[in-house]
Amino acid sequence: MLYCDKCMKLYDSAEICPACKGKPKKLRPVADGDLIYIIEKDAMIAGSIDDILRQHDIPFVKRALQGAGLTTIVGSAFESYKFFVPYTVYENACELLSNFIETEVE
Ligand SMILES: [Zn+2]
Repeated sequence: MLYCDKCMKLYDSAEICPACKGKPKKLRPVADGDLIYIIEKDAMIAGSIDDILRQHDIPFVKRALQGAGLTTIVGSAFESYKFFVPYTVYENACELLSNFIETEVE
């Protein structure tokens, strides 16, 4: 698998990251310690995802997305979070979260 340092996603094959269009980013082979982007959800669902991953002892990194203009007005429930997991547990995490992950349509 190949990995993009910038958007932190995995790709089967590509020389340049298809997601980083503005600034072409070269992919490199993924390493066990790499954090892989897995999902982005609003605060409520992010709480459930948090619980599921903890229950299964999956290490993860959760980042609040900044610059959501609504957040200051309506509160943190509308904030969204991005989740990242180490490559070693990525497939496991995908299975656990399959209900939350929408199939990406090109
Ligand atoms: Zn990228």
